[in-house]
Amino acid sequence: MPPIVDVGQVLKDQVALVTGASSGIGASVARELARAGAAVAVNYAGNPAGAQTVADAITAAGGRAIIVKADVSVEADVTAMFAAVIEAFGRLDILVSNAGLQRDAAFVDMTLEEWDRVMAVNLTGQFLCARAAVRQFLAQAPRPEVSAALGKIICMSSVHDVIPWAGHVNYAASKGGVSLLMKSLAQEIAEKKIRVNAVSPGAIRTPINRAAWETPEAEAALLKLIPYGRVGDPEDIGRAVVWLASDASDYITGTTLYVDGGMTLYPEFREGG
Ligand code: NAD
Repeated sequence: MPPIVDVGQVLKDQVALVTGASSGIGASVARELARAGAAVAVNYAGNPAGAQTVADAITAAGGRAIIVKADVSVEADVTAMFAAVIEAFGRLDILVSNAGLQRDAAFVDMTLEEWDRVMAVNLTGQFLCARAAVRQFLAQAPRPEVSAALGKIICMSSVHDVIPWAGHVNYAASKGGVSLLMKSLAQEIAEKKIRVNAVSPGAIRTPINRAAWETPEAEAALLKLIPYGRVGDPEDIGRAVVWLASDASDYITGTTLYVDGGMTLYPEFREGG
């Protein structure tokens, strides 16, 4: 487990939207943003009970939360989701574009549907949500006393935006796409004082990769790829997101923060090479 850290109310009076927040990393990001003082919109696609549990935990701890249904790959859903957030909270300061999925297959067997679905959610979903967020940021009054930047976007990417991944060509291609979407957008809108960054998790214990850590044998194999010696927990990502959303990282834009226990450090080279 990661150590317990309290960063205080660094996001006080800010409003955040987290996509895919009914489980795993998104649920933790939503809770950590709320713990740092943000009002949080918890987006879900198919699991209202999960989203409600996250929202209830936030309100029970004295925070503010709503739940919003939307498929991030559907333009009309995204438009309606942003309208619901603005109606509830009046503005938006932080978008965490976290929704993502895998449809794994050997390359020769991969169907066009498996390719298209992963691109639609992992890449087009990032485009639609980021575009809606930027439009909202530009339409609202700056509050420099609350946030130095006009708005912050954090894209959930993956170590597979740089590590090739056999059997997951669609997923790796989508995350590689997120990387240059994020950087190009950051370059385009930095002058508007909008910061755009990515977080690239390594192996985090969530439903998406259950098979990789569920049994002791699988976890032992996974740990060979993690120099820091533990599988990550969703809180490791939630805290990195809070920092990237806060004024503590105000001069950072167009950067990918790898939160991976060293997975991108070529761990095979600890021996031989
Ligand atoms: P998860 O399956 O628990 O979370 C993914 C979330 O996205 C789910 O809540 C799901 O309902 C939601 N979602 C899927 N399709 C959606 C859609 N069309 N519209 C809205 N929401 C949708 O797994 P997770 O590990 O928490 O994944 C969160 C993000 O982190 C993903 O982008 C994933 O690629 C990334 N990631 C995870 C790991 C890891 O080790 N767990 C590593 C690298 C990157």
